[in-house]
Amino acid sequence: MIGVKQLRSKNYDQKTTIKKQHTATHPYSGRKAVLATMHGKELAIGPPFHKLLQVSIEIPEGIDTDRLGTFTGEIARKGTPLETLRKKVKIGMEHLGIPYGIASEGSFGPYVYFPFIAQDHEILLWIDDERGIEVVEQKISTDTNYNSKTVSKRNYLGYFLNKSFSPSHALIVRPNSGFIPGLTFKGLKKVNEVKEAIKRCAAASTDGLALVQTDMRAHMNPTRMKVIGELAEKMAHRLATLCPNCSCPGWGIVDVVQGLPCGGCGLKTEQIAQEVYGCPSCDLRKTMPRQDGVTKSSPAYCHWCNP
Ligand SMILES: [Zn+2]
Ligand SMILES: [Zn+2]
Repeated sequence: MIGVKQLRSKNYDQKTTIKKQHTATHPYSGRKAVLATMHGKELAIGPPFHKLLQVSIEIPEGIDTDRLGTFTGEIARKGTPLETLRKKVKIGMEHLGIPYGIASEGSFGPYVYFPFIAQDHEILLWIDDERGIEVVEQKISTDTNYNSKTVSKRNYLGYFLNKSFSPSHALIVRPNSGFIPGLTFKGLKKVNEVKEAIKRCAAASTDGLALVQTDMRAHMNPTRMKVIGELAEKMAHRLATLCPNCSCPGWGIVDVVQGLPCGGCGLKTEQIAQEVYGCPSCDLRKTMPRQDGVTKSSPAYCHWCNP
């Protein structure tokens, strides 16, 4: 199991020096995998899995992934995103009785390095019950329309609507004072629908305000769908890469080593010096230089040069 440890591996591409195997001899070739989604994510995840692994994606009908928690908060999310994701994948696998499963989970908030812009943090989990392995890939993208605003029924929403790319990207409106049954309006794509929802939610809210949010569900948000597609491609490449020791699919970065020397004084910084590749099944690990070729840190990240 790689699991949580791998979450530290951050956002690196999977171009290893190990030879990739995209041939029909790959153990996943011709197999089916379950994707637990209610939000059309097969549009983003299906094509790279088919192209790079010859794996076809099956959607379980009638499952409710919303019971694991929703973005709008009617059902609070319990546990870490990875735990939620593991439950989601297992629901799909059990539903269709297929030993391979995948699901994705997104979280949104201020960008870690620059809090004035938003980030979309997507995690993708692959479970292979035949081999007893899990592979996690993740991506942080600042290409997101994630945003919210409280408005009274008289407020003009033009700037917000513009910035959130509506009507190609839907909005959600609810009372600002909290969740009221029957007053969460999702998937709104027309300005008059948004205005009507604001009027009703503001009237019902104890502070007279409505909360307008971008709808982050993948089928309502083409920008997010694109990020999920890029992450799915990264995962398909990784699964196509076999362990040089035991030939298990999923060889890739599982950890990083900090301590990149400062270009000014030579002292170790907290920047990443090396990347650790590993296998999801056996214990083989290989520590390699950064694949982007960077060998010195900028003095800006050095505690000595830039205290
Ligand atoms: Zn320095
Ligand atoms: Zn191995």
